[in-house]
Amino acid sequence: MGLFFKKVPPPDATRDQSFPLTSRKAWCQVCRKEQQFTKVWRRGAQMRGCPCCGMTFENPAALYKLVQPACPKCKEPLEQPGFDYGMCDGCGSKYELVEGAKPGLIPNLQQREEMEKHGKSRSVL
Ligand SMILES: [Zn+2]
Ligand SMILES: [Zn+2]
Repeated sequence: MGLFFKKVPPPDATRDQSFPLTSRKAWCQVCRKEQQFTKVWRRGAQMRGCPCCGMTFENPAALYKLVQPACPKCKEPLEQPGFDYGMCDGCGSKYELVEGAKPGLIPNLQQREEMEKHGKSRSVL
């Protein structure tokens, strides 16, 4: 079913960087309940730019050598190649989705500022 209706996706510069996956349900710690994640993807290659502030990374490999790769400008955590990510339909929070475990929140700029204000150990926003 559906096989013959598959269209060839248009050429896209980010094609090799991430692959869309089927939507799934996952726990959202911000909504405090299980939510539908319609937008789910697997990162294919290292990020070459920041999705938050738009900064282009001259040397992504150097950033990925860090324990927790992040944008040097706005501290946006970078997606790791081979890992799955998703966006909560309820609140739009981004998560790293791990099979058999609770998703790990990838805090956006606003959430990072909140954490900064209240101390990094605060897990509930
Ligand atoms: Zn950034
Ligand atoms: Zn949510």
